[in-house]
Amino acid sequence: MVRLDHVEIVGAGPAGLYTGILLKSAWPSARVRVTEQNPADATFGFGVVFSDRALDFLAADDPATYALITPRMERWRDMTLDVLGERVTLDGIGFAAIGRLQLLQILQQRAAGVGVELRFGAAVESVEDLEADLVVGADGLNSLVRRSAEAAFAPSLEHFANHFAWFGAPMAFDTLTQTFIRGPHGALNAHHYRYAPAMSTFIVECDAVGFEAYGFADLDEAESARRCAEYFVDALDGAPLVTNRSIWRRFPRLWCERWFAGNRVLLGDAAHTAHFSIGSGTRLALEDAIALAKALRQENDLDAALAAYEGGRQPIAKKLVDGANTSARWYDDFAARLDLPPLEFAHSYLTRSGRIDEARLRQLAPKFSERYESYLSSKAGESE
Ligand SMILES: Cc1cc2nc3c(=O)[nH]c(=O)nc-3n(C[C@H](O)[C@H](O)[C@H](O)COP(=O)(O)OP(=O)(O)OC[C@H]3O[C@@H](n4cnc5c(N)ncnc54)[C@H](O)[C@@H]3O)c2cc1C
Repeated sequence: MVRLDHVEIVGAGPAGLYTGILLKSAWPSARVRVTEQNPADATFGFGVVFSDRALDFLAADDPATYALITPRMERWRDMTLDVLGERVTLDGIGFAAIGRLQLLQILQQRAAGVGVELRFGAAVESVEDLEADLVVGADGLNSLVRRSAEAAFAPSLEHFANHFAWFGAPMAFDTLTQTFIRGPHGALNAHHYRYAPAMSTFIVECDAVGFEAYGFADLDEAESARRCAEYFVDALDGAPLVTNRSIWRRFPRLWCERWFAGNRVLLGDAAHTAHFSIGSGTRLALEDAIALAKALRQENDLDAALAAYEGGRQPIAKKLVDGANTSARWYDDFAARLDLPPLEFAHSYLTRSGRIDEARLRQLAPKFSERYESYLSSKAGESE
């Protein structure tokens, strides 16, 4: 076990809070401090989604946290594609969701309960000022810790072509749904799902041409929300969209070649990002924390532990991140795909990762697969 007397963690997102919980539990006499620039009750966005089994790793590793989170999650077994007004059910594609703020508050309580020092409303201005055995960069996409040793961490950062804004809707959808429409100025997509009994995430997305045509760059948050609610009036059943730092952005594609430099270590979005279409960024952040804590427990020397963390965790995270990147690229030209008949569009969606062949699809979504195959047979019959 590495000797740790003082750990400084920058950022109280899922990665920072969970690292704090794991380290303070394993090193009870160490000072473990998490510093967050925002107040405790503020965050960006609305709910986050996990694939339905994605929190299973917590059940084994940390039943106490698992027991706090899972009862507060919304769950569903199928997902729905609404393609220009035609609904296609994708059976067997289950997800579970929770409000981001609710998740953070559960982790804050757990952290305070095990004795982590939590400091909110205090931005870390200089990493050099943090005197500790270990400095954890859990400070997200714009990580100061990463920037403090940029050459050593070797990040690459690009952005996907599409633009999106993350809204909320005061209503509950039955399943995770993707609604594709042709609005007045081009194709739009919404990813929407409930994360609380009467509240849903509603992310609106369009390509670069649509972004120009809709003039979203010139609208403030409230006006963007008003117009998007108008375009998606059928999906929303007339409900408004609400905002929370719902600015238009392009999703970042970040990957760091190295995850530690001296006594500084990165995890979560500070080290890598995963497009929201596969719902894995939060899970990756929590799993990174578990891997880091394990490596620090198993090795005696800090350098060896950080090398073990990086060596063991990077290939696993890379697989998921690559899957997320492939998924994101499918959305880059969803507008052109809208010319496909809905079942073919849905098939293209389901097989977008390139890892699902027909046999796997039959196992994963048997009802959809049957419907698709009979559609293909009747299409072949018609053309004979
Ligand atoms: C539109 C969108 C939808 C998403 N949907 C999902 C989803 O459905 N499911 C999912 O799993 N993931 C989703 N994600 C990704 C998920 O939000 C992130 O992967 C996850 O939050 C990463 O956690 P983190 O703790 O590493 O970073 P963050 O959650 O970004 O936390 C970093 C924290 O560090 C703080 N900080 C930064 N700099 C400083 C500083 N200098 N001093 C003090 N504090 C600082 C920030 O204020 C922040 O609170 C989505 C992301 C986006 C953009």
